[in-house]
Amino acid sequence: MTLSNAERLLECAIEDRSTPGCHWYVAIEEGKEIGSAFHPADSSEALKELVNSVYQARVKRVYRSQDYKCFYCGKRRPLTPHHEKFRSHGGTHVQSNIVGACISCHDKKHKERSK
Ligand SMILES: [Zn+2]
Repeated sequence: MTLSNAERLLECAIEDRSTPGCHWYVAIEEGKEIGSAFHPADSSEALKELVNSVYQARVKRVYRSQDYKCFYCGKRRPLTPHHEKFRSHGGTHVQSNIVGACISCHDKKHKERSK
């Protein structure tokens, strides 16, 4: 993972605050720090961890905003994150591209799209 890949995926700025012996990255959105990750040796690992932690935080926020109900059928079921614009079609981890879907709606969405 490179810095520019990570920025593209999260659609936010990432500051490189690395010091000798520590790769350290901070994700910034609307002037606020929304995530931070570091790794002693591997910048790619640090960036992967940063992307994952920001993504998980956004997913939680989306679920909360949907009151933990499926975006499609409205039922309260275990949710899984769905990218409205698929990752395979260049969709990113931006919050507006993520919805919480129950397993059966999520399956349906992916089957529809692969027809
Ligand atoms: Zn559903």
